[in-house]
Amino acid sequence: MKCDGSGNFTNGKLQQFGNIELSPSAGVLNYGQGLFEGLKAYRKHDGNILLFRPEENALRMRNGAERMCMPSPSIEQFVEAVKDTVLANKRWIPPAGKGSLYIRPLLLGTGAVLGLAPAPEYTFLIYVSPVGNYFKEGVAPIHLIVEHELHRATPGGTGGVKTIGNYAAVLKAQTAAKVRGYSDVLYLDCVEKKYLEEVSSCNIFIVKDNVVSTPAIKGTILPGITRKSIIEVALNEGFQVEERQVAVDELLDADEVFCTGTAVVVSPVGSVTYRGKRVTYVEDGFGAVAQRLYSALTRLQMGLSEDEMNWTVELS
Ligand code: PMP
Repeated sequence: MKCDGSGNFTNGKLQQFGNIELSPSAGVLNYGQGLFEGLKAYRKHDGNILLFRPEENALRMRNGAERMCMPSPSIEQFVEAVKDTVLANKRWIPPAGKGSLYIRPLLLGTGAVLGLAPAPEYTFLIYVSPVGNYFKEGVAPIHLIVEHELHRATPGGTGGVKTIGNYAAVLKAQTAAKVRGYSDVLYLDCVEKKYLEEVSSCNIFIVKDNVVSTPAIKGTILPGITRKSIIEVALNEGFQVEERQVAVDELLDADEVFCTGTAVVVSPVGSVTYRGKRVTYVEDGFGAVAQRLYSALTRLQMGLSEDEMNWTVELS
């Protein structure tokens, strides 16, 4: 889909995956005017396809576009484009229980601009890829290290929207952590350096005495759609849920820690290394609470339980 900057996106067409042409002075290349989304399509046992809350991704892209001075497709245009792309790529969706089709919508400032200003033209496109588990551990505990020097977001910055530059900001710490054998990095707030924020590509939860807590959304954390869904699932399952400031010290006596995201789904955290100390939670598998939430969410996403919340969109 193309837009001349006025906010009117004209319908695009399906085409074979391939390179796209860009001016060297495209806004996205020079000033980082780019947003993306990530969602998944699951194959049900009856062969039909399920999308999970695609209108939430559309809404998040619209909010991000407002922050980045970009026009964005309407919710309906976004969801229709996702459906069309998924249906055109049906053959790439793995069989039920064997993975999913990852869907990557991109909104880019493709118009040429030399002096710092919003690009005069925009392109919305979607590509897809079949995927399995995000972490090499599979559905097994991951190991995080708390980062004390580098930050992914600052108050007033763009950490709360899914803009491409946020991911460039995490590459250094993430790469260093992986070299040292960790799965990913857990970030702290950059003001007091004592509250949990999130992981490079997922949100974080801790469980203590069956109370499920997660850092509150306050502009420096991505409002994860899985996070929001897990909060609702946990409430439905009868857990007390708190969205609040979670101090890094709470990791020391948490019963369980887990991450949520479209790619990671619900991933149990086996250990967190914090100021040289390694705090362990589970050796393998899930803690009891994470297991319950993982099962409830994935059963819903794969069409194995009643969708009382009306979260899934079925395609055939
Ligand atoms: N935080 C960050 C920084 C992310 O990139 C993601 C993945 N989109 C998430 C959290 C989780 O968001 P969601 O559940 O919507 O995938």
